[in-house]
Amino acid sequence: MSSRESAGFGTRAIHAGQVPDPSTGAIMTPIYQTSTYAQSAPGQHKGHEYSRVTNPTRAALEGNLASLEGAEHAVCFASGVAGIDAILKGLRPGDHIVTTDDLYGGTFRLFRQVFEPFGLRFSFVDMTDLAAVDEAIQPGATKLMWIETPTNPLMRLCDIEALVDRANADGIDVAVDNTFASPYLQQPLALGADLVLHSATKYLGGHSDLIGGVVCTSDDDWHENLRFQLKSSGAVPGPMDSFLTLRGTKTLHLRMQRHCENARAVAAFLDDHPKVADVLYPGLPSHPGHEIAKKQMSDFGGMISFSLVDDALDKAVEVMTHTNIFTLAESLGGVESLIEHPASMTHASIPAEERQRIGLHDSLIRLSVGVEEEEDLIADLDGALQHV
Ligand SMILES: *Cc1c(COP(=O)(O)O)cnc(C)c1O
Repeated sequence: MSSRESAGFGTRAIHAGQVPDPSTGAIMTPIYQTSTYAQSAPGQHKGHEYSRVTNPTRAALEGNLASLEGAEHAVCFASGVAGIDAILKGLRPGDHIVTTDDLYGGTFRLFRQVFEPFGLRFSFVDMTDLAAVDEAIQPGATKLMWIETPTNPLMRLCDIEALVDRANADGIDVAVDNTFASPYLQQPLALGADLVLHSATKYLGGHSDLIGGVVCTSDDDWHENLRFQLKSSGAVPGPMDSFLTLRGTKTLHLRMQRHCENARAVAAFLDDHPKVADVLYPGLPSHPGHEIAKKQMSDFGGMISFSLVDDALDKAVEVMTHTNIFTLAESLGGVESLIEHPASMTHASIPAEERQRIGLHDSLIRLSVGVEEEEDLIADLDGALQHV
């Protein structure tokens, strides 16, 4: 496998971590739907003892994802938030974390409502502002920097290299939630991060048919700790979901190319539309993070947010209820295009004043641009925008 492992991204997406099944030659990794494994004598086994600890389908997926992120190790979890949970359990009460104020809602809830009561301390700052990050760091106490880029739903770009430099100066580890970009567009470990988190539910799986998560790292201590947390707390993905994710990553490079192409065309259309106010897409030269995106991403992704000239919630609802191809739903990263309203759906748990403060407008609409035909997607949005 070594030549396959050092091959280009698209080749590794299809082959890394996998060999034809040794007993049957099956080209696809089987769904090893088993909890336990026969031993010939106590402790004599073929590498697996119990499926909470390891499972061959999951192991193939971990090999695949480690390769795609350029990591030594990948540890798969039952969901993205289970992966975040495992990372934070590697910290201790009193430890301090610096993170962004424009964070995925589920991550925000886990930080505030689960880990703060257990004694972890968080500072939520605008991570596009390095001076604000600097001010938030508590030397000696800050143990982790948690970065999300591009952010959700405001599509802000955080400069991973600059943040890593700042963190390293104080011995702080850096984790990057790379869900929005996928490893095809952005490789945080190569930029100096210690940990990469994905909700595999999104682009890695890519077909809106599973919930999963993964943490990638080349740090042996973090790897050992993550394995320990997985074994001890047990948030393991089942073999069927591992198989589906593995099937998804085989087309990750193809899907991402089309997501980016379609999003570029949709963003240009929206940017020219008289009823649209701001278009938040890092591929537009007017985007404040455009230069950072060009530096750390190989393309600009499939996510777009936009607000209306008439910034009212009911106008946004008119748009979202008049699309035929874009489906009104939470989540993102699947082959099908989705439309949603952060203020009342994914980000409703953020108080209204806080939403205003960070610029999350009532009319803000988020698109996950799928891989359908570009002309159809534009015609769909054009028709819906005629209702405002
Ligand atoms: C969806 C998502 C998560 C959480 O992942 P789940 O698989 O839903 O648990 C974390 N971060 C980002 C950016 C996400 O979009």
